[in-house]
Amino acid sequence: MIVVMQTAAEKGQVEGVECRLLEMGFAPHRIQGTGRVVIGAVGEQKVVFPTGLEVLPGVERVVPISAPYKLVSREVKETGTVVEVGGLKIGGPEIVVMAGPCAVESEEQLITIARLVKAAGAQVLRGGAYKPRSSPYSFQGLELEGLKMLSRARDETGLKIVTEVLNPQEIELVAEYTDIIQIGARNMQNFSLLREAGRVKKPVMLKRGLAATLEEWLMAAEYILAEDNFEVILCERGIRTFETSTRSTLDISAIPQAKSMSHLPVIVDPCHSSGTWKLASPLSRAAIAAGADGLLIEVHHKPAEALCDGPQSLTPEKFSRLLTSIQPVAEALGRGVSIGEDLSMTGGF
Ligand code: PEP
Ligand code: MN
Repeated sequence: MIVVMQTAAEKGQVEGVECRLLEMGFAPHRIQGTGRVVIGAVGEQKVVFPTGLEVLPGVERVVPISAPYKLVSREVKETGTVVEVGGLKIGGPEIVVMAGPCAVESEEQLITIARLVKAAGAQVLRGGAYKPRSSPYSFQGLELEGLKMLSRARDETGLKIVTEVLNPQEIELVAEYTDIIQIGARNMQNFSLLREAGRVKKPVMLKRGLAATLEEWLMAAEYILAEDNFEVILCERGIRTFETSTRSTLDISAIPQAKSMSHLPVIVDPCHSSGTWKLASPLSRAAIAAGADGLLIEVHHKPAEALCDGPQSLTPEKFSRLLTSIQPVAEALGRGVSIGEDLSMTGGF
């Protein structure tokens, strides 16, 4: 349920309601809405109306939440959440672009790509130090060394960092080095990992599972918010369908749907969705047109030599063209996208 406080409610009255909720066995989560406080109350207890909270000082009304996910739901928060990462706003009018290699391979590789994606206009550098590979014999990532390279690339370029964590034991370590913690598609329902990600109090980018429904995805996000971490970004990265000509199928309808079901920002990964750099631009334009708040793009300066996901990685030149191509779509929707240098003098797509 949610307890909607009166606009004039005092701090002490909000605290009074929170105390009562705790006594009743609910966990209260204070959410600052536009002009008023709303308290999301979750727990295993059944809500029986009237709850008795209605008559407490400062309370305007008590409303049940019909969705199975509670804190993630639009019912709790009408306005979209803007996740702030050191001054960068994700979920605001500006489209946020995260770009970089699938995996951190070496200092030289990472810094080369970091400088180029920054020059092209990206705000966040991606790169896996811990890689979830389908085969145990594939490159598994540079682990701690990779994290250190990411943080050096941040120092050098000023880009924010997003990188994946694979298990709960490593989350504190990864959180030390990164600005945004990535939880990958294969781990979307790793509930102990989700709980730990809620406890570290760093922004989390939660990718949709390969075969997860929207409800399952939002329930997974709920695990993080339930630990009082509201800094969650959803990432649609394609789902398994009967179609085999692409690696996955980008679920375009998931973008407006997730945004109407939830207040969290939604970004799109067109590279893992399609498995080919060739579809990255058209899918990015479609994603922005459907309301995505940002993009996650794999970029490699030598895709043919990439240790991971080369065929779906864009060269920096192609990445630069992609950004130019999404700008009119963003602008048509009243949104901005930052475009840097034009790197598209060579190559073609
Ligand atoms: C990734 O972004 O590096 C990745 C492994 O993607 P996904 O979890 O979507 O497969
Ligand atoms: Mn990849």
